[in-house]
Amino acid sequence: MLDLATPTISERSALKINPAKTCQPIGAMYAALGIHSCMPHSHGSQGCCAYHRSHLTRHFKEPVAATTSSFTEGASVFGGMANLQQALINIFSIYNPEVVAVHTTCLSEVIGDDIPTIIKKAREEGKIPEGKTVIHANTPSFVGSNVTGYSNMCVGIVNYLAEKSGESTEAINIFPGWLDPSDMRELKRLAEELGVKYTLCPDTSDVLDLPQTGVYEMYPKGGTPVEAIKRMGDAIKTVALGEFTAHAAAQKLNDKCGVPFEALDAPIGLTNTDLYIDALRRIAEVDVPASIDAERGRLLDVIQDIGQYFHEVPVAIFGDPDHVVAMTRFAIELGLKPKYIFSGATGRAFENRVHAILDGRFPDAIVKQQGDLFELHERIKADPVKLILGNTYGKHIGRAENIPLVRFGFPILDRVGHRLFPTVGYRGAMHLVEKISDALLDQRDRTCPEEWFELVQ
Ligand code: SF4
Repeated sequence: MLDLATPTISERSALKINPAKTCQPIGAMYAALGIHSCMPHSHGSQGCCAYHRSHLTRHFKEPVAATTSSFTEGASVFGGMANLQQALINIFSIYNPEVVAVHTTCLSEVIGDDIPTIIKKAREEGKIPEGKTVIHANTPSFVGSNVTGYSNMCVGIVNYLAEKSGESTEAINIFPGWLDPSDMRELKRLAEELGVKYTLCPDTSDVLDLPQTGVYEMYPKGGTPVEAIKRMGDAIKTVALGEFTAHAAAQKLNDKCGVPFEALDAPIGLTNTDLYIDALRRIAEVDVPASIDAERGRLLDVIQDIGQYFHEVPVAIFGDPDHVVAMTRFAIELGLKPKYIFSGATGRAFENRVHAILDGRFPDAIVKQQGDLFELHERIKADPVKLILGNTYGKHIGRAENIPLVRFGFPILDRVGHRLFPTVGYRGAMHLVEKISDALLDQRDRTCPEEWFELVQ
């Protein structure tokens, strides 16, 4: 039980205890799984790959296939070129993917392996079959986080695959940022409801949310096809949903193929969904159908119904920066009072972004990039909140302080269902409202004096 925090806030600059992030290759592996028929490949030791696969498997409750260069002492001293070349031969001959997406690890980065050169040499020597593709991203885990790794692999996808032929597809590219498969499915549903032609990349729906058929498929039907990614360079515009996980890929596509982009936040909550719908509507020059208007109206209705219980409720929000930024805005829309807003993100961009959303309305709010959960616990112990919004790692604080935790973001290792129900869009927002209100009202029913215990709320 992690209950060693005291109400004394210890400002630490050289030590993180339980950082609010995880390692880069996990993000790269997740992004690669959003390409159809892609095998993520971990260029490092087996232990890294096993950890990354198991972390994703525990969140998505699906088997996550990935290969490894299986470094031992020899590769650590002499470099991993031979290992990667042999790995490519084995992967294509045994697993036969369309694409191998190589990401590095701490060890291969420290060694300094030059992945593009190794890939080039492997192709020249015929170790990569004709028509197959190998892409890569550098993901040293001693800098950045899972979020950086996801972003880097998305940039790598564009870098290797996107092309400009000059013949417009009349489609809109959507970079979804780091979202669950159910969220990606919801983004596509909304685009289809609007009648918009789109390419979503990466797309992990129908990859990591598969129905049980009794048959294992190494490459399920989901994932963005390589041909579709190639044509992203001919799109009319890109919509990038998340400063930390999507904007860099959109910028890369703009630089490479001249496709302009609109940079938005993840479409979590009312305003953020409005902005997503509006961007698609404007770019595709379509009208918003009555069905989407009705969904929005139902969300407004439920927010109004529950508003009396949310008003000024102090809340701690932590997790990956795109999730936290979007959730902070939604919390304000719901009438909650963001008090602690923590992310493991590096750089000042996160704090600036959150402060822009808070807009001076919550002067006591503490916003922290490179935050850790030990400090969050200390702060909550010193000055409590009534609700925590974050991933599974918040459960220790919730238990120690008797505060409900609404699981949100990545990873959720101790519950099922999150990968099936979206948090984006109006429907996703309704689902979040239900989860938050259930948590708050359950806590109230458990702890209120008997004279306040009501059958009807
Ligand atoms: S932090 Fe580095 S060594 Fe550890 S699992 Fe991640 S990539 Fe491997």
